[in-house]
Amino acid sequence: MTTSSSLPTVKLLIDGQFVESRTSQWRDVVNPATQEVLARVPFATEAEMNAAVASAREAFKTWRKTPIGARARIFLRYQQLIRENIKELAAILTAEQGKTLADAEGDVFRGLEVVEHAAGIGNLQLGELANNVAGGVDTYTLLQPLGVCAGITPFNFPAMIPLWMFPMAIATGNTFVLKPSEQDPMVTMRLVELALEAGVPPGVLNVIHGGAEAVNLLCDHPDVKAVSFVGSTKVGSHVYQRASLAGKRVQCMMGAKNHAIVLPDAHKEQTLNNLAGAAFGAAGQRCMALSVAILVGEAREWLPELVAKARSLKVSAGTEPGADLGPLISRAALDRVSGLIERGVQEGARLELDGRNPVVAGYGQGNFVGPTLFSGVTPQMSVYREEIFGPVLCVMQVDTLDEAIALINANPNGNGTALFTRSGAAARHFQEEIDVGQVGINVPIPVPVPIFSFTGSRASKLGDLGPYGKQVVQFYTQTKTVTARWFDENEVGGPVNTTIAL
Ligand code: NAD
Repeated sequence: MTTSSSLPTVKLLIDGQFVESRTSQWRDVVNPATQEVLARVPFATEAEMNAAVASAREAFKTWRKTPIGARARIFLRYQQLIRENIKELAAILTAEQGKTLADAEGDVFRGLEVVEHAAGIGNLQLGELANNVAGGVDTYTLLQPLGVCAGITPFNFPAMIPLWMFPMAIATGNTFVLKPSEQDPMVTMRLVELALEAGVPPGVLNVIHGGAEAVNLLCDHPDVKAVSFVGSTKVGSHVYQRASLAGKRVQCMMGAKNHAIVLPDAHKEQTLNNLAGAAFGAAGQRCMALSVAILVGEAREWLPELVAKARSLKVSAGTEPGADLGPLISRAALDRVSGLIERGVQEGARLELDGRNPVVAGYGQGNFVGPTLFSGVTPQMSVYREEIFGPVLCVMQVDTLDEAIALINANPNGNGTALFTRSGAAARHFQEEIDVGQVGINVPIPVPVPIFSFTGSRASKLGDLGPYGKQVVQFYTQTKTVTARWFDENEVGGPVNTTIAL
Protein backbone atom coordinates (compact mmCIF):
# COMPACT_ATOMS: atom_id res chain seq x y z
CA MET A 1 0.00 0.00 0.00
CA THR A 2 1.27 3.49 -0.78
CA THR A 3 1.20 6.11 1.92
CA SER A 4 1.06 9.78 1.11
CA SER A 5 4.70 10.16 2.15
CA SER A 6 5.90 7.40 -0.21
CA LEU A 7 4.13 8.89 -3.22
CA PRO A 8 6.13 10.83 -5.76
CA THR A 9 5.65 14.57 -5.54
CA VAL A 10 5.30 16.96 -8.46
CA LYS A 11 8.06 19.55 -8.29
CA LEU A 12 8.05 23.28 -8.83
CA LEU A 13 10.52 24.66 -11.35
CA ILE A 14 12.20 27.79 -10.09
CA ASP A 15 15.35 29.26 -11.60
CA GLY A 16 16.22 26.10 -13.48
CA GLN A 17 15.85 23.82 -10.40
CA PHE A 18 13.10 21.27 -9.82
CA VAL A 19 12.32 21.91 -6.17
CA GLU A 20 10.07 20.36 -3.56
CA SER A 21 7.42 22.76 -2.34
CA ARG A 22 7.39 23.67 1.35
CA THR A 23 3.63 24.00 1.33
CA SER A 24 1.33 22.13 3.65
CA GLN A 25 -1.41 21.98 1.00
CA TRP A 26 -1.28 19.04 -1.41
CA ARG A 27 -3.65 17.34 -3.79
CA ASP A 28 -3.60 13.81 -5.18
CA VAL A 29 -3.14 13.21 -8.88
CA VAL A 30 -5.43 10.27 -9.56
CA ASN A 31 -5.67 7.80 -12.45
CA PRO A 32 -9.30 8.28 -13.50
CA ALA A 33 -9.65 4.71 -14.80
CA THR A 34 -8.50 3.04 -11.58
CA GLN A 35 -8.45 5.68 -8.78
CA GLU A 36 -4.79 4.83 -8.18
CA VAL A 37 -3.03 7.85 -6.69
CA LEU A 38 -0.08 8.56 -8.97
CA ALA A 39 1.53 11.51 -7.23
CA ARG A 40 0.86 14.51 -5.03
CA VAL A 41 0.88 18.02 -6.42
CA PRO A 42 1.62 21.02 -4.18
CA PHE A 43 -0.26 24.29 -3.94
CA ALA A 44 2.81 26.51 -3.97
CA THR A 45 3.33 29.06 -1.21
CA GLU A 46 3.22 32.76 -1.97
CA ALA A 47 6.99 32.98 -1.41
CA GLU A 48 7.58 30.20 -3.95
CA MET A 49 5.33 31.83 -6.52
CA ASN A 50 7.04 35.17 -6.05
CA ALA A 51 10.43 33.44 -6.38
CA ALA A 52 9.32 31.97 -9.73
CA VAL A 53 8.28 35.39 -11.04
CA ALA A 54 11.49 36.98 -9.69
CA SER A 55 13.58 34.34 -11.43
CA ALA A 56 11.75 34.96 -14.72
CA ARG A 57 12.22 38.71 -14.31
CA GLU A 58 15.97 38.32 -13.74
CA ALA A 59 16.38 35.87 -16.65
CA PHE A 60 14.62 38.28 -18.98
CA LYS A 61 17.54 40.71 -18.73
CA THR A 62 19.76 38.40 -20.75
CA TRP A 63 17.21 36.26 -22.58
CA ARG A 64 15.66 39.24 -24.36
CA LYS A 65 19.04 39.89 -25.98
CA THR A 66 19.74 36.29 -26.97
CA PRO A 67 20.15 36.09 -30.75
CA ILE A 68 17.12 34.85 -32.60
CA GLY A 69 19.06 31.92 -34.08
CA ALA A 70 20.11 30.74 -30.62
CA ARG A 71 16.48 30.85 -29.51
CA ALA A 72 15.30 29.02 -32.60
CA ARG A 73 17.88 26.23 -32.21
CA ILE A 74 16.56 25.37 -28.74
CA PHE A 75 13.17 24.65 -30.29
CA LEU A 76 14.74 22.60 -33.07
CA ARG A 77 16.26 20.39 -30.38
CA TYR A 78 13.07 20.46 -28.33
CA GLN A 79 10.85 19.21 -31.15
CA GLN A 80 13.27 16.31 -31.68
CA LEU A 81 13.21 15.40 -27.99
CA ILE A 82 9.41 15.45 -27.88
CA ARG A 83 9.28 13.26 -30.99
CA GLU A 84 11.72 10.75 -29.48
CA ASN A 85 9.74 10.60 -26.22
CA ILE A 86 6.21 10.74 -27.58
CA LYS A 87 5.22 7.23 -26.43
CA GLU A 88 6.40 7.88 -22.88
CA LEU A 89 4.65 11.27 -22.84
CA ALA A 90 1.42 9.71 -24.08
CA ALA A 91 1.60 6.98 -21.42
CA ILE A 92 1.98 9.56 -18.62
CA LEU A 93 -0.86 11.59 -20.10
CA THR A 94 -3.24 8.65 -20.34
CA ALA A 95 -2.45 7.54 -16.79
CA GLU A 96 -3.37 10.89 -15.25
CA GLN A 97 -5.97 12.19 -17.72
CA GLY A 98 -7.69 9.05 -18.96
CA LYS A 99 -7.90 9.59 -22.74
CA THR A 100 -6.86 6.75 -25.04
CA LEU A 101 -3.19 6.36 -25.89
CA ALA A 102 -3.92 7.33 -29.50
CA ASP A 103 -5.66 10.51 -28.32
CA ALA A 104 -2.81 11.17 -25.89
CA GLU A 105 -0.29 10.95 -28.73
CA GLY A 106 -2.49 13.35 -30.70
CA ASP A 107 -2.49 15.71 -27.72
CA VAL A 108 1.32 15.70 -27.65
CA PHE A 109 1.59 15.88 -31.43
CA ARG A 110 -0.61 18.97 -31.79
CA GLY A 111 1.64 20.67 -29.23
CA LEU A 112 4.75 19.44 -31.01
CA GLU A 113 3.57 21.23 -34.15
CA VAL A 114 3.66 24.52 -32.23
CA VAL A 115 7.21 23.76 -31.09
CA GLU A 116 8.18 23.16 -34.72
CA HIS A 117 6.66 26.52 -35.55
CA ALA A 118 8.56 28.19 -32.71
CA ALA A 119 11.77 26.88 -34.29
CA GLY A 120 10.95 29.10 -37.27
CA ILE A 121 10.81 32.23 -35.12
CA GLY A 122 13.42 33.87 -37.35
CA ASN A 123 10.80 34.13 -40.06
CA LEU A 124 8.01 35.24 -37.76
CA GLN A 125 9.28 38.00 -35.48
CA LEU A 126 9.97 40.47 -38.23
CA GLY A 127 9.29 44.18 -38.24
CA GLU A 128 8.50 46.43 -41.20
CA LEU A 129 10.51 49.20 -42.78
CA ALA A 130 9.35 52.09 -44.93
CA ASN A 131 12.16 53.83 -46.72
CA ASN A 132 12.08 57.65 -47.17
CA VAL A 133 8.91 58.49 -45.25
CA ALA A 134 10.37 62.00 -45.52
CA GLY A 135 13.55 63.13 -47.19
CA GLY A 136 16.31 60.98 -45.69
CA VAL A 137 14.02 59.52 -43.07
CA ASP A 138 13.11 55.83 -42.58
CA THR A 139 10.49 54.34 -40.29
CA TYR A 140 10.72 50.79 -39.03
CA THR A 141 9.24 48.59 -36.36
CA LEU A 142 10.87 46.40 -33.73
CA LEU A 143 8.83 43.53 -32.27
CA GLN A 144 10.27 43.37 -28.79
CA PRO A 145 9.45 40.87 -26.03
CA LEU A 146 7.29 42.05 -23.13
CA GLY A 147 9.04 40.50 -20.12
CA VAL A 148 7.57 37.88 -17.81
CA CYS A 149 4.53 36.17 -19.33
CA ALA A 150 2.29 33.69 -17.53
CA GLY A 151 0.21 30.73 -18.71
CA ILE A 152 -2.71 29.02 -16.99
CA THR A 153 -3.86 25.74 -18.52
CA PRO A 154 -6.83 23.34 -18.26
CA PHE A 155 -6.90 19.60 -17.58
CA ASN A 156 -8.18 18.38 -20.92
CA PHE A 157 -5.08 18.88 -23.11
CA PRO A 158 -2.24 18.82 -20.58
CA ALA A 159 0.41 18.52 -23.33
CA MET A 160 -0.95 20.58 -26.22
CA ILE A 161 -2.10 23.65 -24.34
CA PRO A 162 1.05 24.32 -22.30
CA LEU A 163 2.85 23.89 -25.64
CA TRP A 164 0.51 26.47 -27.22
CA MET A 165 1.96 28.92 -24.72
CA PHE A 166 5.53 28.75 -23.45
CA PRO A 167 7.40 27.83 -26.67
CA MET A 168 6.15 30.86 -28.60
CA ALA A 169 6.47 33.16 -25.57
CA ILE A 170 10.08 32.09 -25.04
CA ALA A 171 10.95 32.01 -28.73
CA THR A 172 9.89 35.66 -29.01
CA GLY A 173 12.31 36.56 -26.18
CA ASN A 174 10.05 36.52 -23.13
CA THR A 175 10.43 34.51 -19.96
CA PHE A 176 7.58 32.44 -18.61
CA VAL A 177 5.77 31.22 -15.51
CA LEU A 178 3.44 28.30 -16.19
CA LYS A 179 0.59 27.19 -13.90
CA PRO A 180 -0.60 23.80 -15.21
CA SER A 181 -3.88 22.16 -14.28
CA GLU A 182 -3.62 20.75 -10.77
CA GLN A 183 -5.64 17.73 -11.96
CA ASP A 184 -3.01 16.34 -14.34
CA PRO A 185 0.33 18.16 -14.11
CA MET A 186 2.65 15.19 -14.71
CA VAL A 187 2.91 15.13 -18.50
CA THR A 188 3.30 18.90 -18.47
CA MET A 189 6.25 18.52 -16.10
CA ARG A 190 7.86 15.87 -18.31
CA LEU A 191 7.55 18.29 -21.24
CA VAL A 192 9.13 21.00 -19.11
CA GLU A 193 12.05 18.66 -18.26
CA LEU A 194 12.58 18.08 -21.97
CA ALA A 195 12.52 21.83 -22.60
CA LEU A 196 15.39 22.28 -20.14
CA GLU A 197 17.21 19.38 -21.77
CA ALA A 198 16.77 21.14 -25.11
CA GLY A 199 18.58 24.17 -23.69
CA VAL A 200 15.99 26.54 -22.20
CA PRO A 201 18.21 28.42 -19.68
CA PRO A 202 17.50 28.69 -15.93
CA GLY A 203 14.77 31.18 -15.12
CA VAL A 204 13.47 31.44 -18.68
CA LEU A 205 10.78 28.84 -17.91
CA ASN A 206 9.37 28.41 -14.39
CA VAL A 207 6.47 26.32 -13.14
CA ILE A 208 4.27 26.84 -10.12
CA HIS A 209 1.37 24.62 -9.07
CA GLY A 210 -1.89 25.43 -7.40
CA GLY A 211 -5.42 26.62 -7.99
CA ALA A 212 -7.27 29.91 -7.67
CA GLU A 213 -4.69 31.52 -5.39
CA ALA A 214 -1.84 30.87 -7.83
CA VAL A 215 -3.92 32.17 -10.71
CA ASN A 216 -4.88 35.32 -8.84
CA LEU A 217 -1.26 35.97 -7.90
CA LEU A 218 -0.24 35.79 -11.56
CA CYS A 219 -3.10 38.12 -12.52
CA ASP A 220 -2.08 40.69 -9.90
CA HIS A 221 1.72 40.48 -9.91
CA PRO A 222 3.20 43.74 -11.19
CA ASP A 223 6.12 41.95 -12.85
CA VAL A 224 3.88 39.76 -15.01
CA LYS A 225 3.23 41.57 -18.27
CA ALA A 226 0.91 39.17 -20.10
CA VAL A 227 -1.40 36.30 -19.17
CA SER A 228 -2.53 33.48 -21.45
CA PHE A 229 -5.44 31.44 -20.14
CA VAL A 230 -7.26 28.39 -21.50
CA GLY A 231 -10.12 26.90 -19.52
CA SER A 232 -13.75 27.44 -18.60
CA THR A 233 -15.69 30.59 -19.40
CA LYS A 234 -16.33 31.30 -15.72
CA VAL A 235 -12.68 31.23 -14.70
CA GLY A 236 -11.48 32.81 -17.95
CA SER A 237 -13.80 35.80 -17.55
CA HIS A 238 -12.48 36.29 -14.03
CA VAL A 239 -8.85 36.05 -15.23
CA TYR A 240 -9.50 38.49 -18.06
CA GLN A 241 -11.03 41.09 -15.78
CA ARG A 242 -8.54 40.71 -12.98
CA ALA A 243 -5.40 40.72 -15.13
CA SER A 244 -6.68 43.52 -17.41
CA LEU A 245 -7.42 45.62 -14.36
CA ALA A 246 -3.79 45.15 -13.36
CA GLY A 247 -2.78 46.53 -16.77
CA LYS A 248 -1.69 43.31 -18.45
CA ARG A 249 -2.24 41.91 -21.88
CA VAL A 250 -4.63 38.99 -21.56
CA GLN A 251 -5.88 36.29 -23.91
CA CYS A 252 -8.52 33.86 -22.65
CA MET A 253 -9.74 30.90 -24.65
CA MET A 254 -12.79 29.52 -22.94
CA GLY A 255 -15.81 27.24 -22.99
CA ALA A 256 -17.83 25.95 -25.89
CA LYS A 257 -21.00 24.38 -27.19
CA ASN A 258 -20.04 23.30 -30.66
CA HIS A 259 -22.75 22.52 -33.20
CA ALA A 260 -22.55 20.41 -36.33
CA ILE A 261 -25.06 20.98 -39.11
CA VAL A 262 -25.87 17.97 -41.24
CA LEU A 263 -27.48 18.67 -44.61
CA PRO A 264 -29.26 15.80 -46.36
CA ASP A 265 -26.84 15.93 -49.30
CA ALA A 266 -23.85 15.13 -47.03
CA HIS A 267 -21.84 11.95 -47.45
CA LYS A 268 -23.81 9.89 -44.95
CA GLU A 269 -21.35 7.26 -43.71
CA GLN A 270 -18.48 9.74 -43.46
CA THR A 271 -20.63 12.28 -41.65
CA LEU A 272 -22.02 9.86 -39.08
CA ASN A 273 -18.54 8.49 -38.34
CA ASN A 274 -17.19 12.02 -37.99
CA LEU A 275 -20.04 13.04 -35.70
CA ALA A 276 -19.63 10.03 -33.41
CA GLY A 277 -15.86 10.55 -33.18
CA ALA A 278 -16.14 14.27 -32.49
CA ALA A 279 -18.98 13.97 -29.97
CA PHE A 280 -17.72 11.04 -27.90
CA GLY A 281 -13.94 10.87 -28.50
CA ALA A 282 -11.84 11.84 -25.46
CA ALA A 283 -15.12 11.29 -23.53
CA GLY A 284 -16.35 14.63 -24.87
CA GLN A 285 -13.71 16.48 -22.84
CA ARG A 286 -12.54 18.59 -25.74
CA CYS A 287 -13.25 22.29 -26.13
CA MET A 288 -13.85 21.43 -29.80
CA ALA A 289 -16.09 18.41 -29.13
CA LEU A 290 -19.22 18.47 -31.29
CA SER A 291 -21.86 18.35 -28.59
CA VAL A 292 -24.90 19.38 -30.67
CA ALA A 293 -25.91 17.88 -34.02
CA ILE A 294 -28.53 19.74 -36.02
CA LEU A 295 -30.09 17.42 -38.56
CA VAL A 296 -31.60 19.42 -41.40
CA GLY A 297 -34.62 18.22 -43.42
CA GLU A 298 -34.36 14.61 -44.50
CA ALA A 299 -31.11 14.15 -42.56
CA ARG A 300 -33.44 13.71 -39.54
CA GLU A 301 -33.95 10.16 -40.71
CA TRP A 302 -30.30 9.39 -39.97
CA LEU A 303 -30.89 9.51 -36.21
CA PRO A 304 -31.21 5.72 -35.68
CA GLU A 305 -27.94 5.14 -37.52
CA LEU A 306 -26.24 7.83 -35.46
CA VAL A 307 -27.46 6.14 -32.29
CA ALA A 308 -26.14 2.81 -33.59
CA LYS A 309 -22.70 4.34 -34.26
CA ALA A 310 -22.63 5.79 -30.76
CA ARG A 311 -23.63 2.46 -29.25
CA SER A 312 -20.83 0.65 -31.08
CA LEU A 313 -18.06 2.65 -29.40
CA LYS A 314 -15.95 0.87 -26.81
CA VAL A 315 -15.65 2.45 -23.37
CA SER A 316 -12.59 1.39 -21.40
CA ALA A 317 -9.36 2.56 -19.83
CA GLY A 318 -7.29 4.56 -22.30
CA THR A 319 -4.57 1.93 -22.14
CA GLU A 320 -6.87 -0.87 -23.35
CA PRO A 321 -6.50 -1.80 -27.03
CA GLY A 322 -9.57 -0.86 -29.03
CA ALA A 323 -10.88 1.65 -26.48
CA ASP A 324 -12.67 4.53 -28.20
CA LEU A 325 -13.22 6.62 -25.09
CA GLY A 326 -11.80 6.57 -21.61
CA PRO A 327 -13.07 7.87 -18.26
CA LEU A 328 -13.94 11.40 -17.17
CA ILE A 329 -11.21 13.24 -15.31
CA SER A 330 -12.68 12.97 -11.79
CA ARG A 331 -15.48 11.70 -9.60
CA ALA A 332 -16.78 15.27 -9.47
CA ALA A 333 -16.94 15.38 -13.28
CA LEU A 334 -18.72 12.01 -13.31
CA ASP A 335 -21.33 13.27 -10.84
CA ARG A 336 -21.79 16.51 -12.75
CA VAL A 337 -22.25 14.81 -16.14
CA SER A 338 -24.59 12.16 -14.68
CA GLY A 339 -26.61 14.93 -13.02
CA LEU A 340 -26.93 16.83 -16.29
CA ILE A 341 -28.13 13.69 -18.08
CA GLU A 342 -30.78 13.28 -15.38
CA ARG A 343 -31.83 16.91 -15.84
CA GLY A 344 -32.13 16.36 -19.59
CA VAL A 345 -34.56 13.52 -18.94
CA GLN A 346 -36.55 15.60 -16.46
CA GLU A 347 -36.73 18.55 -18.85
CA GLY A 348 -38.21 16.38 -21.59
CA ALA A 349 -35.36 15.50 -23.94
CA ARG A 350 -35.62 11.96 -25.37
CA LEU A 351 -32.79 9.80 -24.07
CA GLU A 352 -32.02 7.67 -27.14
CA LEU A 353 -28.91 6.18 -25.58
CA ASP A 354 -28.06 6.24 -21.87
CA GLY A 355 -24.35 5.87 -21.15
CA ARG A 356 -24.59 6.13 -17.39
CA ASN A 357 -23.07 3.37 -15.26
CA PRO A 358 -21.51 1.36 -18.08
CA VAL A 359 -19.99 -2.00 -17.21
CA VAL A 360 -16.29 -1.71 -17.94
CA ALA A 361 -14.56 -5.04 -17.40
CA GLY A 362 -11.55 -4.73 -15.12
CA TYR A 363 -12.18 -1.07 -14.29
CA GLY A 364 -15.10 -1.06 -11.87
CA GLN A 365 -13.73 2.02 -10.11
CA GLY A 366 -13.26 4.22 -13.19
CA ASN A 367 -15.13 7.48 -13.80
CA PHE A 368 -16.87 6.11 -16.88
CA VAL A 369 -19.85 7.44 -18.79
CA GLY A 370 -20.55 5.84 -22.15
CA PRO A 371 -21.85 7.61 -25.25
CA THR A 372 -25.16 9.28 -24.42
CA LEU A 373 -27.52 10.73 -26.98
CA PHE A 374 -30.55 12.96 -26.57
CA SER A 375 -32.97 13.89 -29.33
CA GLY A 376 -35.76 16.45 -29.26
CA VAL A 377 -33.47 18.93 -27.50
CA THR A 378 -34.59 22.58 -27.31
CA PRO A 379 -32.52 25.69 -26.55
CA GLN A 380 -34.20 26.09 -23.15
CA MET A 381 -32.97 22.75 -21.76
CA SER A 382 -30.00 22.54 -19.40
CA VAL A 383 -28.33 19.94 -21.61
CA TYR A 384 -28.31 22.55 -24.37
CA ARG A 385 -27.45 25.62 -22.32
CA GLU A 386 -24.55 24.13 -20.38
CA GLU A 387 -21.22 22.85 -21.63
CA ILE A 388 -21.54 19.26 -20.44
CA PHE A 389 -17.90 18.31 -21.11
CA GLY A 390 -18.80 14.63 -21.24
CA PRO A 391 -19.75 12.11 -23.95
CA VAL A 392 -23.25 13.51 -24.45
CA LEU A 393 -24.60 14.50 -27.85
CA CYS A 394 -27.74 16.63 -28.16
CA VAL A 395 -29.61 16.18 -31.44
CA MET A 396 -31.88 18.93 -32.77
CA GLN A 397 -33.91 18.98 -35.93
CA VAL A 398 -34.74 21.91 -38.23
CA ASP A 399 -36.02 22.40 -41.78
CA THR A 400 -33.41 24.71 -43.33
CA LEU A 401 -29.74 25.63 -43.21
CA ASP A 402 -30.66 29.20 -42.25
CA GLU A 403 -32.63 28.00 -39.23
CA ALA A 404 -29.60 25.98 -38.15
CA ILE A 405 -27.27 28.97 -38.60
CA ALA A 406 -29.64 31.18 -36.58
CA LEU A 407 -29.68 28.62 -33.78
CA ILE A 408 -25.89 28.53 -33.61
CA ASN A 409 -25.54 32.29 -33.74
CA ALA A 410 -28.05 32.63 -30.89
CA ASN A 411 -25.99 30.36 -28.64
CA PRO A 412 -23.66 32.38 -26.39
CA ASN A 413 -20.58 30.31 -27.35
CA GLY A 414 -18.62 30.59 -30.56
CA ASN A 415 -15.70 28.21 -30.34
CA GLY A 416 -16.10 25.62 -33.10
CA THR A 417 -18.66 24.39 -35.61
CA ALA A 418 -18.86 22.13 -38.63
CA LEU A 419 -21.09 21.75 -41.66
CA PHE A 420 -21.50 18.47 -43.51
CA THR A 421 -22.61 18.87 -47.10
CA ARG A 422 -21.68 18.23 -50.73
CA SER A 423 -22.82 21.71 -51.74
CA GLY A 424 -20.14 24.35 -52.23
CA ALA A 425 -22.78 27.08 -52.26
CA ALA A 426 -24.20 25.94 -48.91
CA ALA A 427 -20.69 25.73 -47.46
CA ARG A 428 -19.85 29.23 -48.59
CA HIS A 429 -23.12 30.63 -47.24
CA PHE A 430 -22.35 28.92 -43.92
CA GLN A 431 -18.79 30.24 -43.64
CA GLU A 432 -20.01 33.77 -44.36
CA GLU A 433 -22.98 33.83 -41.98
CA ILE A 434 -21.79 31.82 -39.00
CA ASP A 435 -20.38 33.71 -35.99
CA VAL A 436 -17.95 31.10 -34.70
CA GLY A 437 -14.15 31.05 -34.48
CA GLN A 438 -13.20 27.63 -35.87
CA VAL A 439 -15.32 26.62 -38.85
CA GLY A 440 -15.13 23.12 -40.34
CA ILE A 441 -16.50 22.16 -43.71
CA ASN A 442 -16.73 18.38 -43.71
CA VAL A 443 -14.06 18.58 -41.01
CA PRO A 444 -15.49 17.81 -37.56
CA ILE A 445 -12.76 19.26 -35.31
CA PRO A 446 -11.16 22.10 -37.27
CA VAL A 447 -8.34 23.04 -34.88
CA PRO A 448 -6.05 25.27 -36.95
CA VAL A 449 -2.47 24.17 -37.56
CA PRO A 450 0.14 26.54 -36.10
CA ILE A 451 0.75 28.57 -39.25
CA PHE A 452 -2.68 29.97 -38.32
CA SER A 453 -3.87 30.81 -34.81
CA PHE A 454 -6.59 29.36 -32.61
CA THR A 455 -9.47 31.76 -32.25
CA GLY A 456 -13.01 31.98 -30.92
CA SER A 457 -16.03 34.19 -31.00
CA ARG A 458 -18.37 35.68 -28.40
CA ALA A 459 -18.29 33.92 -24.98
CA SER A 460 -15.57 31.51 -26.09
CA LYS A 461 -12.82 34.10 -26.22
CA LEU A 462 -11.69 37.30 -24.57
CA GLY A 463 -8.82 39.35 -25.97
CA ASP A 464 -8.26 40.01 -29.62
CA LEU A 465 -5.17 37.90 -30.33
CA GLY A 466 -5.30 34.11 -30.22
CA PRO A 467 -2.77 31.52 -29.09
CA TYR A 468 0.10 30.32 -31.33
CA GLY A 469 0.64 31.23 -34.98
CA LYS A 470 1.11 34.75 -36.28
CA GLN A 471 -1.31 36.31 -33.79
CA VAL A 472 0.66 35.16 -30.78
CA VAL A 473 3.82 36.80 -32.10
CA GLN A 474 1.86 40.05 -31.85
CA PHE A 475 0.50 39.09 -28.44
CA TYR A 476 3.92 38.32 -26.96
CA THR A 477 5.68 41.38 -28.39
CA GLN A 478 5.47 45.14 -28.10
CA THR A 479 5.77 47.00 -31.36
CA LYS A 480 8.21 49.85 -31.17
CA THR A 481 8.16 52.23 -34.14
CA VAL A 482 11.44 53.95 -34.88
CA THR A 483 11.65 56.96 -37.17
CA ALA A 484 15.26 57.72 -37.97
CA ARG A 485 17.23 60.37 -39.77
CA TRP A 486 21.00 60.26 -40.08
CA PHE A 487 22.50 63.64 -40.80
CA ASP A 488 25.34 63.84 -43.07
CA GLU A 489 28.12 66.20 -42.07
CA ASN A 490 27.10 68.86 -44.64
CA GLU A 491 23.44 68.99 -43.44
CA VAL A 492 24.09 69.74 -39.75
CA GLY A 493 22.88 73.18 -38.61
CA GLY A 494 19.98 75.32 -39.90
CA PRO A 495 17.11 77.02 -38.05
CA VAL A 496 15.15 75.61 -35.09
CA ASN A 497 12.00 73.96 -36.39
CA THR A 498 8.97 74.26 -34.06
CA THR A 499 6.34 72.79 -36.37
CA ILE A 500 5.31 69.13 -36.23
CA ALA A 501 6.98 67.80 -39.29
CA LEU A 502 9.59 65.36 -40.33
P1 NAD B 1 -11.03 25.43 -15.42
O1 NAD B 1 -11.47 26.77 -15.84
O2 NAD B 1 -11.70 24.78 -14.26
O3 NAD B 1 -9.47 25.46 -15.05
C1 NAD B 1 -8.54 26.11 -15.87
C2 NAD B 1 -7.41 26.66 -15.00
O4 NAD B 1 -7.94 27.63 -14.11
C3 NAD B 1 -6.73 25.60 -14.16
O5 NAD B 1 -5.33 25.80 -14.21
C4 NAD B 1 -7.29 25.83 -12.76
O6 NAD B 1 -6.36 25.55 -11.74
C5 NAD B 1 -7.62 27.31 -12.76
N1 NAD B 1 -8.78 27.62 -11.90
C6 NAD B 1 -9.83 26.79 -11.60
N2 NAD B 1 -10.73 27.44 -10.83
C7 NAD B 1 -10.24 28.68 -10.63
C8 NAD B 1 -10.74 29.83 -9.93
N3 NAD B 1 -11.87 29.79 -9.26
N4 NAD B 1 -10.00 30.96 -9.96
C9 NAD B 1 -8.84 31.02 -10.65
N5 NAD B 1 -8.34 29.95 -11.32
C10 NAD B 1 -9.01 28.81 -11.31
O7 NAD B 1 -11.09 24.49 -16.73
P2 NAD B 1 -10.88 22.93 -16.84
O8 NAD B 1 -12.05 22.22 -16.22
O9 NAD B 1 -9.51 22.54 -16.40
O10 NAD B 1 -10.94 22.75 -18.43
C11 NAD B 1 -12.13 22.57 -19.14
C12 NAD B 1 -12.62 23.87 -19.73
O11 NAD B 1 -11.62 24.43 -20.57
C13 NAD B 1 -13.83 23.68 -20.65
O12 NAD B 1 -14.72 24.74 -20.43
C14 NAD B 1 -13.24 23.77 -22.05
O13 NAD B 1 -14.14 24.16 -23.06
C15 NAD B 1 -12.18 24.78 -21.84
N6 NAD B 1 -11.17 24.71 -22.88
C16 NAD B 1 -11.16 25.69 -23.82
C17 NAD B 1 -10.24 25.63 -24.86
C18 NAD B 1 -10.23 26.69 -25.92
O14 NAD B 1 -9.24 26.78 -26.61
N7 NAD B 1 -11.26 27.48 -26.07
C19 NAD B 1 -9.33 24.57 -24.92
C20 NAD B 1 -9.37 23.59 -23.92
C21 NAD B 1 -10.28 23.68 -22.89
